[in-house]
Amino acid sequence: MVTKIIDGKQIAEAIRQQLKKEVAELSTQHIIPGLGVILVGDDPASRSYVTAKEKACGEMGIYSRDHRLSSDTTEEELIELVNSLNIDPAIHGILVQLPLPAHIDEKKVLETIVPEKDVDGFSPINVGRMVLGQKTFLPCTPHGVLKLLEYSNILTEGKHVVIVGRSNIVGKPLANMLIQKSSSGNATVTVCHSRTRDIGAMTRQADIVIAAVGSPALITKDMVKEGAVVIDVGVNRVTDPSRKRGFRLCGDVDFDSLVGHVSHLTPVPGGVGPLTITMLLFNTIESAKAAGE
Ligand code: NAP
Repeated sequence: MVTKIIDGKQIAEAIRQQLKKEVAELSTQHIIPGLGVILVGDDPASRSYVTAKEKACGEMGIYSRDHRLSSDTTEEELIELVNSLNIDPAIHGILVQLPLPAHIDEKKVLETIVPEKDVDGFSPINVGRMVLGQKTFLPCTPHGVLKLLEYSNILTEGKHVVIVGRSNIVGKPLANMLIQKSSSGNATVTVCHSRTRDIGAMTRQADIVIAAVGSPALITKDMVKEGAVVIDVGVNRVTDPSRKRGFRLCGDVDFDSLVGHVSHLTPVPGGVGPLTITMLLFNTIESAKAAGE
């Protein structure tokens, strides 16, 4: 079987070209979408995510305001900053990069962001709206997965989707999106996690397997039926002395063994990743549009 490798960079670029037109249209109404980005501490992975997000904003014509705070920032100081962004008319979206240092209550900080600026879609109000199928900001990574499927002409209606992973940022919202009565939903969804007894028995039944675990090469060829679609959300660093930086990135799927066995497959990097930032830009622009109405 010929396996189509889904090019996430190309799909992200196609969406970004469309978004650029929307930003240009907004500028004729003197509206510049604005994103407030908060990073606490100096975790290298978080720093590189935040830098990538700010770069993407710059390329799109979105104003981004960078708040890089030291790791000893108090919860009160952080909440005060979020509150100031909540009422700042130049800011349409607020992004607090996770994880936060242990002394700060992540839940409390995220709940401080007003739902109208919660472009990550993590607040209980926006999650509730998503579950009810109401208009809201959809969490970026699961929304990106739906876009990958849509742009690859993979229909979900009537399909059995097996998601491995039940986190609040990927697995749970994705399962909810896929069961919505909508053109990007209407799937039958099974969600597996660390307490699932026989993951292979579940994934072998799937038309579409989505892995969001954080475990290198967990999904192997024998766990996937021939001709299935496989989306790999996982991003793992594995030691590789042959690389200058001493590691390489890989997903949760044993990529090489699935080539020739499945119909569609996403690579890591270059699959889901580029869509995550793109959908953040999408949400920020939607928020700016709503503020201008
Ligand atoms: P997470 O919060 O750590 O959740 C992992 C999930 O996998 C949990 O539900 C866990 O089950 C389950 N799990 C762990 N080991 C398992 C096993 N052996 N078998 C079955 N299920 C298992 O992770 P996350 O934030 O969802 O992220 C998942 C992966 O996606 C990570 O590699 C992350 O880096 C990546 N990611 C990528 C993007 C992107 O833009 N490409 C964005 C977000 C995340 P329990 O609930 O039972 O513990």
